[in-house]
Amino acid sequence: MAQYKIALIGLYNYKVLGVRYLASALRQKGFDCPLIFFKNFESGNMKKPSEREYELLLNLLRELKPNAIGLSVMSTLYLEAPRELTRRLRDAFGPEVPIIWGGVYPTLFPAESLDYADLVLRGESEDALVELVEHLNEGTIPDSLPNLAYRKQDQTVVNEVRRLEEDLDRLSFPLLGDRQMYYINYDKLMPGDPQVKNHTYEMTCSRGCPYVCSYCSSLSLKKLYRGKGKFVRLRSVDNVIQEIRQAQQKMKKMRMVLFWDEIFPDDLAWVQEFTDRYRKEINLPFQIWGHPLRTRQEVIDLLVEAGLSQVVIGIQSGSPRIRKQVFFRRENQDEILKMSRVLAQARVPEVIYDFILDHPFETEEDFRLTLELCEKLHRPFTLQLHGLSFLPGTEIVNLAIKEGVITREEIERLQNLPLEEQYRAMYWFYGDDKVKYRRSQYWINLIFYSQFPRLYKIVKPLATRTSLLEKNALPFRFLRKGCNYFLFGRRVAKKLSWLYG
Ligand code: SF4
Repeated sequence: MAQYKIALIGLYNYKVLGVRYLASALRQKGFDCPLIFFKNFESGNMKKPSEREYELLLNLLRELKPNAIGLSVMSTLYLEAPRELTRRLRDAFGPEVPIIWGGVYPTLFPAESLDYADLVLRGESEDALVELVEHLNEGTIPDSLPNLAYRKQDQTVVNEVRRLEEDLDRLSFPLLGDRQMYYINYDKLMPGDPQVKNHTYEMTCSRGCPYVCSYCSSLSLKKLYRGKGKFVRLRSVDNVIQEIRQAQQKMKKMRMVLFWDEIFPDDLAWVQEFTDRYRKEINLPFQIWGHPLRTRQEVIDLLVEAGLSQVVIGIQSGSPRIRKQVFFRRENQDEILKMSRVLAQARVPEVIYDFILDHPFETEEDFRLTLELCEKLHRPFTLQLHGLSFLPGTEIVNLAIKEGVITREEIERLQNLPLEEQYRAMYWFYGDDKVKYRRSQYWINLIFYSQFPRLYKIVKPLATRTSLLEKNALPFRFLRKGCNYFLFGRRVAKKLSWLYG
C-alpha cells in the first residue's frame, strides 16, 4: 500500500511550533507529511490571503496529492481564513480527502469547527494525530480515539482528551529545515523552510501556564485537562540544549534564541543548570516572556549573565480593580514595583511591559492609576500598549456579558470581523464611540510618553495644566508617531548589534 500522506498547513505563522511538533511526530512513524506555511504573522500588515495565494496553495496540493489535510486554527482572529480555505479545499478535493482542524479554537469549540472540518483534534495531539493517521491509513475512523471530535449521523461526538504528556523530553524536536516544506506569501510560492534563513530560533522549554488570566485561553484549557495530569511541565536542560544545537546545524545565520514559553522557567536549580550550559555551549543572546510574580533576583541575574537580552512582562493595568476583578491577575502594586526594581538592578538590556488598555471595563480612574504605576516603574523600559480581544472561550467574555459592559451580539460581531479589522481594533485605529475614543487617547498618549522620561517632563504639565491637548489629541498623535520611529530605530540598532557583534 502506498504510504499515507497528510499535508499540514500552518496559517499566518512561519514559526507555528505546534504544527512542527505534529509533523515531527508523524515523520518519526514514517508518514509522509509535507508542511505548508500559508501567510506569515505581520502585526502591522495582517491581510486575508489573495486569490493568487489560494490558487498557489491549491495547485501545490494537487501536485502533492495528500490523503488528508490538517489545518492549524489558533483563534477567532484567524477564523476567516481557515473557514474560506476549508471551503475551497472541499471544492477542490471532495469528501475523499478528510480535512482535520487542530489548535486552540477547535479544542474549545469542536462543534462549531465541525461545521467546516470533517474531523477535529483537541488539545496536545502528537500521539492522537499519529494514531488517527494510522487508522485512516487502514481505512477506518477510530470512533473512541481520545482527543477526536467528529459528526456521526448529524450528532457531534466529542471524545475526552487523553492525559497530558508528562515527559516532554519524549517528544521529538519540532521539524525544521525539512525538504518537504513550502511557504506562500505576497503572491509567491517558495520551496523550503522560511525559518532556516532566519537569525532567530524560536522554541519553548515548557508547556502550560500556572496562571488563569481571564482574557487568555489558559483557564479553559486547564479546565479541559482537569484530572488529566500536570498542566505545567518542564523539559530537561539537556533536551533544550540538544534542540538548540540541532537547530544551529540547520540555521547557519542563527544569532538569537527566542523562548516562547508563556512564562520562562524560574526554578532556581533548573535555571542554574540551564545558564551554565547555555553560556558554554550556545552563547547567543536570548529573549523570554516573564511574569511579575516570577522574577527572583538570583534567577534574573543568572539569566542576564547567560545572555538574556530582552524580557517581556505583562502588567496589563495599573488599576488593582481591573487586574484582580477583570483580568484575574494576582499581583499587587508592590509586587509589580519590586519586579521592576529586580529587572533594573539586574540590568536586563531591554525590558518591555505589556498593557491592555481602552476596553469597556476601564474608567478614567483606571487609566489614571495605570499612568501613576508607569511613573513609578524603574527605568529604562519600553511599553507595549494594545487593546483587548474578546477571544471565544475566555472568561472575560462571560464577565463582560454578565456585567453588561458589552452585549453577546456585539462580542460575536467583533469576533467575526475580517482579520484586518480585528487587528485594527487591537491597535485602536478603529472606534465607534468617537467621544470616548478621543478621551481614552488622551490617557493612552500620556501612558505612552511615560517611557521617555525627558519628554514626559515636558508633555505631562502641558497635558494636565492646559486643555489644549485634551481638546485635540492631534499634536499628541504626531509626537507619538515620532516616538514610534525612534523606538523602531532603536530596535533596528539593537538587532544590528546582536547580528554583527
Ligand atoms: S500569564 Fe500569560 S499565558 Fe498565563 S494565563 Fe496569563 S496571559 Fe495566559
